[in-house]
Order: sequence, then structure tokens, then C-alpha cells
Amino acid sequence: MPYGQGTRLPGEAASKLGHLAVVKSDWVKALVKEFEAAKPNEPDPSSTVWTTFNPDGVRPLSRVWAVDGSFVSVQSEQKPPREVAFVKTALLVVDRARLDTIDKEHPHPLLLQDVLTGSAVFHASVFPLKNIRTPLGSNYDAVRHIVRDSMQIDEDGAFYETLKWLAYKKWSTQQVNSPAFNCPHCHAEILAGLPVDAEEGNCPKCGGIVFLTDMPGFHLSMDEDSAPDALASAYMLVMEHLMLFTAIRIFWDHSDKTLATDTLFIKDGPLTLRSQYSKLVPRIRDFLEHAKQVQRPLHIVGQEKSGAFFDHLASIARFPPPHARGEPLSYAVLSHDHVRREVYRSPDLQNPYGLKTNWGEKLFAKFDPGTYMVLNVPTGTYNPDGSRPTATDLIGLGRILATLPSLISHKHEGALFPIELANGIASMSSYPSARVLQRFIEGTSK
Ligand SMILES: [Zn+2]
Repeated sequence: MPYGQGTRLPGEAASKLGHLAVVKSDWVKALVKEFEAAKPNEPDPSSTVWTTFNPDGVRPLSRVWAVDGSFVSVQSEQKPPREVAFVKTALLVVDRARLDTIDKEHPHPLLLQDVLTGSAVFHASVFPLKNIRTPLGSNYDAVRHIVRDSMQIDEDGAFYETLKWLAYKKWSTQQVNSPAFNCPHCHAEILAGLPVDAEEGNCPKCGGIVFLTDMPGFHLSMDEDSAPDALASAYMLVMEHLMLFTAIRIFWDHSDKTLATDTLFIKDGPLTLRSQYSKLVPRIRDFLEHAKQVQRPLHIVGQEKSGAFFDHLASIARFPPPHARGEPLSYAVLSHDHVRREVYRSPDLQNPYGLKTNWGEKLFAKFDPGTYMVLNVPTGTYNPDGSRPTATDLIGLGRILATLPSLISHKHEGALFPIELANGIASMSSYPSARVLQRFIEGTSK
């Protein structure tokens, strides 16, 4: 997803208010005055605890992988309009030494091309949304088969292998059945999951054939109550995870055992999988804990560019240092209690924050007076204690913080250059034009 517009608005926008008649109201004048009043000495009302980062003796990570995705729905001009959703995800590797030679503000296109050549993989798929029927079966079955085929065919099945690697803990000496999931035919829960390494099986209740790719639960995003783009956004999110973990899996199995640990893996967005997709979260946590235990820690960071954490940070980012360029960065790791109390203001909820859905914990980082980010970093096993996590719980936080300053873009506020590059590959602008897509729908679905 693209970076939003910055908050440092031009002065022009404010002066336009002066032309509005309503500004003559004393009540409105008082409101505007209050809104604009600068309060430099006011303390941070959320009492966030910031720590100055000291990079001395901390070795930055030498290469960076970034993953991002996007989706778009396209309608045909026929009546009734046919509609499909295109989903695209991209995975990109950047050599930090080569990246350092590029001007982050005005990257030279040829240099950029050089850095990117042979270093990006993208995955694309298309799903029927409305008024499309193929001779093979209903939309529901079409989507199930498209999901399976897309994962199995692309990159010779590398992403599909990663799904198996996570589902069956194939990194472990003790492999397990897949997580439990709902049968796409009779909707009964298949409690035992699929047996180790299986690609399909039969539902014990109705006997129907179920695929391993039914396990994440895309079919549940197709019920009548779901938003029309729920399937496309879920597929994008799951594929972002599978692509990132494909890079991790390949490095993990590499004969050079230092490769995986010496790399920064960046995911656009939070390290979160919600609703039915959260069944993959315990698998991911288990692997990251295992990697930590065998002294091969993985460095993964997610960046949230919108939402409650982003808005909260924007409201308090002026309080902590650095207050001038060149000062060291500072960061604040958010405990579960702090998130509940200050970000969501719902301290009484029963489950600790992120228990089921998050495989990374939250922190704020401020790099210079105008650059701050909401980051997610994994801990491995989840600790439900309200006072956790602390900085030492976050895997490899020091090396991550030592690496990020060299990746900051100056094109967008608070942006990371590798995500920008991945976004460029995964974005709508690199889809064929809507006209071509429309002809695609009209030509293939008669
Ligand atoms: Zn069944």
C-alpha cells in the first residue's frame, strides 16, 4: 500500500479558511484559536517512555528483503457489469552497500534499475467477484482452485512449499499436522487438520476433497456478509507472508548459516493476521522462537503507515528527542498495558493485547525531528504479561535500529526506501491499464 500524504501541510491550506463566512462567528474563532495555539511546554499526556539508542558497537545488517502488495477491482462495461479483482505482491532484495550509493530523494533511474535488476520477484493472481461464471464451476469453487493453482504454479511452487513449511513445521524435527480448519463444503471443523506434508485430503464429515490451500480459510471471506474486496485483501496479506517467509526459508536452509541472521526482512504493514488467518500466527511464533533458541535470530520488522498506532504517534511525536538533526534516534517499546491504556483506551478487555493475532510487538521510533515510525518486531513466544514486551524481548532490536537510518527515504515522510521500491513493483501503476483489464474480462469469461 502506498505511503499517505505527509502531515506537514503547506500554509496555503490554512489561509483559505479566512475566506469562509463562518469564521466570523466568535465560537468558531475561539475554536480555531485553540486549534492553532502552540503549547511548547505541555508534557506528553500518554507518558510514553522513550530510550535513546546508542549504535556504538552494533553491526548493521548487510542486506534487506522487503515485501509489499496491492489489489484492484476492475469492472467491465457490459450490463450487468462483470467484476474481477487483481492481486499483486512483490518481494525485493536490496544490497545495502549498493543502496547507499543512491540519492534517496532523487534516485537516478538507471542506478535504481541496476540495483533492482534480477532482485525482485512478483506474484499476481485474479479472482472473480461479480457476474462471472466459468464453465468449470461456481465462483466459490473457482476461487478455491485459483488460490491453489496460483500458489502451486508460481516460482515452481516455492510459495506453496513455504505454506507447507509453516503449516507442518517442516523446519522442526517434530513435524505436526496442519492447523484445524473449516471444511469448505460442509463447514464442519476439521479438528485434526491435514496429516504431515499432505496437499489434500477428505473431510471426515462429508467426504469432500479439501486442499491444504483451504486451510487459511479464504472461502470464509466469500460469504454474503463479507466486503466484496475481503477476499482480495486477505489473499494479498497471506501472500505477503508467504513471500517473506519464502526468502526466510531459503536463507534458513542455505549452507551459509549466517545469511538468514545477517539480513533485515521488512514487511509493509503490521505483523498481524486476523480472524481465520490467525491460525498461522502460532506457527510463525514457534519458528521465530526456535531460531532464537538455536542462536540464529531473525531480524524482521513491519511498518504501520496508518491506523490507531500511527495516529497516536503523530499526536505525541513532538515530545521525545531528537529535537535536532544529527542527534541519536530514540524509541519506545509499548507494553500490552500501555497499548490498552493509551492507544486504544480500553484497559478492561479480557485478553492481553495481540494474544491471538500478532506475531510482532509494537514500538515507536523517532529518527529525526520530522521522521518517526510505528514498527513491529517479533518476540518469538508471546508473553501475555501486561508489562511486556520490553526492549530485550524484541528479537534483534539493536541491529534493526542500527540498520534502519540508512534506509530512510526522503521522498515520503517517514518512509523506508525498500518498501517504496517494493510498492513501486506491486502497485496499481504497474498493472496493465484498466482498459486492457476490461478487455481481459470481456474476452475470457464468455
Ligand atoms: Zn466437509
